[in-house]
This record gives sequence, structure tokens and C-alpha cells, in this order.
Amino acid sequence: MADERDELIRAGRLFDRRGWVEGTGGNLSARAAAGGFWITASGSHKGELTREDFVRVDIDGTLLETGAPGRRPSAEVAIHQTVYRLFPQTGAVYHVHSTEANVVSLFSNGPMLRLAPLEVLKGFRVMEDNPRVEIPLLPNWSNVAQIAADMHARLANSPPPRIPAALIRLHGITVWGPDALTARHYVELLEYILRFMVQARSAGVEEDW
Ligand SMILES: [Zn+2]
Repeated sequence: MADERDELIRAGRLFDRRGWVEGTGGNLSARAAAGGFWITASGSHKGELTREDFVRVDIDGTLLETGAPGRRPSAEVAIHQTVYRLFPQTGAVYHVHSTEANVVSLFSNGPMLRLAPLEVLKGFRVMEDNPRVEIPLLPNWSNVAQIAADMHARLANSPPPRIPAALIRLHGITVWGPDALTARHYVELLEYILRFMVQARSAGVEEDW
């Protein structure tokens, strides 16, 4: 029988192949029909997930169900709770740690990072010519609750970002979407843009975005 975890398992394999979830890094979640959301358990390798490697928690982080006994939610569950709380239409949240996300996080000292105006922004329904699109750039903290609090403070007090994503400096991106497959496409598109920005800078391209 189909299960919300299956698309997360596929996404985990893809992100692992791309090198975006090294070690046991990153975490993937999707809303569950049974209530709350499924999220990868702490310590799980995202390229080797099975249904047992997830736990189901409610919006407050209370454990509802474990895929296997003893599994605990990812330490970064607070980031996912923040997104589901702020954007109720969200069906899935992906948080990954790519090299490119970390490099571009050093391109801006401010609270936002401007993205290169690439054609692929159409995948986010950004249709104008030479679009000026920015994503929130948040500080990193070893205390994940502080990351989540910053994210809440920033996103709750401004219009929803045009691209459903936020970048944590020297840590990685968090991307959300209406369903797990769309969110996966969003991760791929945003990572493509970040990869382009790293390569453009190393190639000495004059950046006019
Ligand atoms: Zn992380």
C-alpha cells in the first residue's frame, strides 16, 4: 500500500547520489494522512532509507508513531515544525547540506541572498524577464531550536518568500512544497541555481544580479 514515506525514500536516494546529504546529514518530512508528519529518524542515512527509518510526529513535535522501536525524530525536527506551522499548505519539507549552498551562503553578508536570474526560476512560477529573486539567509547555530526560532521570526514577519526556501549560513537549504514530489523538484532547481552561482564566480563571470 502506498505510504507518504515512499516518496521521501526516493528523494533521499536522489539527494544522496547528488552528494547533498553526506554522512547522516539532512532530513526529509511529509505530511501524513494519519495526522502530523513523517520525518527521517535521527542517525538515518538518506541513501538507504526504509519505512522503518521514519517517525511520525505532530506539529508540536510529540512522537505519534515510530517506524521501528527506539527511533527518535531528527534533531532538526524544529525546522520542519516551523515551516508547517507558518505555511499550512505545505505537504513536504526537505533540508539538505550541499557544498554549493554553503559556498553561496558566504556571497552575502546581509539577511538575503539574491539568486542568479536563470530560466529555471520558471519552475517556481517566476515568469518575468531578468527576475530579481532573493531567499532568506539565516545565521547558523549549534542549537537547532535557535535556528528554528530565527526562521520563525524572519518568515512570520514578512510576506511568504517567492521561492519556498531559506538558506542557513554554512549549513544548508530548507525547501518546502505542496507535496513531496514538487518539493523534490524545488530542491533540484534551487541547487541548480546555487551550483551555477558557485561556478559563475569561479569562472570570473561578472555578476550583474
Ligand atoms: Zn542541517
